Amino acid sequence: MAWNFSTDADFQRKLDWMSEFMREQIWPLETVVQELGWEGLVRAMRPLQAEVKAQGLWAAHLDPELGGQGYGQVKLGLMHEILGSCPIAPLAFGNAAPDSGNSEILALAGTPEQKDRYLHPLLAGDLKSAFSMTEPDTAGSDPTLLQTAAVRDGDEWVINGRKWFSSNGSIADFLIVMAVTDPDARRHQRASMFVLDADTPGVRILRDVPTMEHPWDSYGVYGNHAEIAYEDVRIPADALLGARGAGFLIAQQRLYPGRIHHCMRWLGVARRAFDMLCERSLYRYAHGSTLAEKQTVQNWIADSAAQMQAARLMTLHAAWKMDTEGVGAARTDIALIKFFGAQVLHDVVDRALQAHGSLGYSTDLPLEAMYRYARAARIYDGPDEVHRASVARQVLRGYEPPADNVPSEHVPTRREAARERFAELLHAVTAND
Ligand SMILES: Cc1cc2nc3c(=O)[nH]c(=O)nc-3n(C[C@H](O)[C@H](O)[C@H](O)COP(=O)(O)OP(=O)(O)OC[C@H]3O[C@@H](n4cnc5c(N)ncnc54)[C@H](O)[C@@H]3O)c2cc1C
Repeated sequence: MAWNFSTDADFQRKLDWMSEFMREQIWPLETVVQELGWEGLVRAMRPLQAEVKAQGLWAAHLDPELGGQGYGQVKLGLMHEILGSCPIAPLAFGNAAPDSGNSEILALAGTPEQKDRYLHPLLAGDLKSAFSMTEPDTAGSDPTLLQTAAVRDGDEWVINGRKWFSSNGSIADFLIVMAVTDPDARRHQRASMFVLDADTPGVRILRDVPTMEHPWDSYGVYGNHAEIAYEDVRIPADALLGARGAGFLIAQQRLYPGRIHHCMRWLGVARRAFDMLCERSLYRYAHGSTLAEKQTVQNWIADSAAQMQAARLMTLHAAWKMDTEGVGAARTDIALIKFFGAQVLHDVVDRALQAHGSLGYSTDLPLEAMYRYARAARIYDGPDEVHRASVARQVLRGYEPPADNVPSEHVPTRREAARERFAELLHAVTAND
C-alpha cells in the first residue's frame, strides 16, 4: 500500500538550502526594497540568481530543455512554501509572477519563433511581461463575457478593447492579451491569446491602478497593475498564441498549477505571521499574565496551527493528484484549496496582527503588508465565491434527490423497512423466545 508523506532526502537537502538562503540572503533585502528601487533590486538579485542557478533551482517550473527542472507540482509546491515567506524571493528563483505563468504559456503554446523572440529573453531576464485579460467593464470572474475583440483583417489582427489589473503592464516589454476572435463560437471557444510588443502602436498604458497594496498614484513600478487601452492595435497573423479559440484552454493550463503555487506561498506567509504571533504571546504581559497564558490567544495559536496543517495537506494532496492523475482530476481539489487557503492566510495574519496591537498595525512589522496581500488573495485568480460554487457543483454531481422527496435518512421510513427486514427477529424478541 502506497501512502507516504515524506520528502526524499535529496530534495529535502535542496529545501533546507533554500530555507537558509531565504533567511540569510533574501529577508534582509526585503527591508530596503524601496530604497533600492527596481534597478537596485535587479542588481542585488544578480549574484543571488547565480547561486540559485548553481543549485539547479532556477525556473524549476519549466522543462529541462528550457533550463528548468521539470519538477512536478509537489516539489514545486514545497519550494513555493519556502519562497512565499518573502515577496521578492521569486525574483531570485526565476519564478516571479506574472513572468513565470507567461513563460509557461509561451512554452506550452508558442511557436519556435515566438519562443525565440519572447520566451528565451524572458527566461534570461532580458524582458518583462504582463498578462492582460481582466476588463474594467466585464466580470473577470466570468471571462466568457470578455468584450475586447480581435478582428482578422487580411494578414493582420486588429485588437480593440480595454483591460485593467494587468500586473506589471506598465513596465512590460510584451503583453499576452486575451481577446474574442470568434463571437459566435461556443462560450469557451470564443477567445484567443495573442503575444505582442508593449510598444505596438495603439497600445496605451492609461495608468497604474492604485490599490490597497500601493494606495498612492505611482507609475512604472514593479508589481503595479496597469489599465490599458487597445485602440486599433494591428498585429501580424503570427501573433496568435496557440490555436484560434484556444484562449480559455491555455489560460486553464496556466492557472491550475499557478493556484497550487499561490496556496503554498500563502502558507509561507502564514507561517511567518504565525511565528510572530507565537513570539509575541511569550513576551507581551498584560492583566497579570503573558498573552500566551490567555485562552483566547491559545485558541488563536491552536486554530492557526490546525488551519495551516489542513491547508498544507490539502494543497500537497491537490499537487500530488495533479502529478499522478493530471489537471482534470485535480480540478475540484484545486478549487477547494484556492478559497480555503486564502481564508487561512487571512485568519492567521489577522490574529498575529491583533496580538501585536498598534505595533501590528504599524509598518514597523510586515504584518500590515501581509494583511493587504491576504485580502487580494480572495479575489485574484477567481474570487472565493466562484471556487466555492465550482466545488459545490462538482460535489452535487455525486448526489440525486430522493424518491418522493423523503430524505434517505428519514428515521420513520428506515424503521418501517427495518421492521420488515428483521420481522422474524423482532417477533422472537418481543415474544420472549
Ligand atoms: C492583485 C491583483 C492582481 C491581478 N493581476 C491580474 C493580471 O495580471 N491579469 C489580469 O488579467 N487580471 C488580474 N487581476 C484581476 C483578477 O483576476 C480579477 O479581479 C478577478 O478575476 C475578479 O474579477 P473582477 O475584479 O472583474 O470581479 P467580478 O467578476 O466583478 O466579481 C466581483 C464579485 O462578485 C462576486 N461573484 C462573482 N461571481 C460570483 C458567483 N458565481 N457567485 C457568487 N458571487 C460571485 C464575488 O464576490 C466577486 O468578488 C488581478 C487582480 C488583483 C486583485
